[in-house]
Amino acid sequence: MFLSLLQSLFVNFSVLVTLSFVMSLTYRSWPPPRHWHLKALRLALTVVTAMALVMMGALDPSGLHVSLWLVPPAVMILRYGVGSGLIAGLPAALLPLILPASGPLGVEAAAALALMNLLLVSGLAHLFRWTLNMNDPHGSLQRHAWIAALIFLPTNLGLVLLPGGLDALQRTYLPGWAFSVLGFWAVASMITGRVALLQSTDTYREQAHRDALSGLPNRRQFELDLPFTAPGDALLLIDVDHFKLVNDRHGHPVGDQVLALIGGLLSDALRGRDRAYRYGGEEFAVILRRVQPGRIEEIAHRLRELVAATDFGEPLGQVTVSVGGAPFGLWSRTRTLWDADEALYRVKHGGRNGVQIFTFDPARPQRADGPPGGGLDPTPS
Ligand code: GH3
Ligand code: MG
Ligand code: MG
Repeated sequence: MFLSLLQSLFVNFSVLVTLSFVMSLTYRSWPPPRHWHLKALRLALTVVTAMALVMMGALDPSGLHVSLWLVPPAVMILRYGVGSGLIAGLPAALLPLILPASGPLGVEAAAALALMNLLLVSGLAHLFRWTLNMNDPHGSLQRHAWIAALIFLPTNLGLVLLPGGLDALQRTYLPGWAFSVLGFWAVASMITGRVALLQSTDTYREQAHRDALSGLPNRRQFELDLPFTAPGDALLLIDVDHFKLVNDRHGHPVGDQVLALIGGLLSDALRGRDRAYRYGGEEFAVILRRVQPGRIEEIAHRLRELVAATDFGEPLGQVTVSVGGAPFGLWSRTRTLWDADEALYRVKHGGRNGVQIFTFDPARPQRADGPPGGGLDPTPS
């Protein structure tokens, strides 16, 4: 009898771990998307898991169902609150009413006991909700075990109120409690582990796409954003003038400070949908979204003037930048990059601290390396 109880509980444990693994697959990204249908899916999976556990649990001669069905609602409470956990556990609690049962306990008493268990476990899980943060990647597995030990302590203690209940309690309490603790620990650890993995992936993804010095998105992010540019968007390339001299005269750390400061200036100066990048070395790129052609130059000048008007402190004083720009959509994006780069090159040759925007002019003669009509003013503004 005792052995078959252990066997049933072991099968229950295996089912719990398997279905919880399926549930853990619904955690796919971090930060977690706030989609109601994801929460509904997890709730449905919890309901199904709890009901499957009751149906596959052991049936004590008293008519008592012994299973790990309280574990999924307890985990649900820790993640989503007591309301969700109660809803998730209710169908499983009422299941004894329709399951074939034999024993002096009776189906109504078994269901009442299950409801009482659900309320007690939910209350305790709610109480410990704030001490067990499953989103904490450093959450202690030991703490999961301790809390589980406390949460499942009152399970089935209501049996003492029922005739013949004490015997059933003696037969089932310890194995039921121990397996519940083990089950909870396994599920909580699985979900915490999955969340920790997603969190570190998110951190590394963020680090891989951000430049540590300027705080701006880096060249890799630029390459990712570039295919999503559309006609009506524009590109600016911003290069610091005589930056080598800054390094040579004042040292690399001062040069680094200048780059960090310019990065901050650019990102603060742009509208929400526009984005500045550290394109490489002392060169920055800006993608302007849905900008009127006439405004590209205006914005480029604004950014140039912003840097020129900034006091970079002693002993540096002023630093200037040159800006080359081109609209997207005239031809390929690679070509837009070339056009902006060529415009920048012209500013450098024209004396630096200026702006040049590539404009499409059908009246101009065909350029040797490109489609007809491309044109750059001979002198930068
Ligand atoms: P120009 O006006 O023609 O652009 O001249 P420049 O001196 O700015 O250009 P050049 O390409 O000759 O030199 C760029 C310098 O930028 C050389 C390189 O050491 C420096 N640099 C690139 N990345 C960093 C960085 O992360 N920190 C610092 N401090 N310097 C950097
Ligand atoms: Mg430079
Ligand atoms: Mg450069």
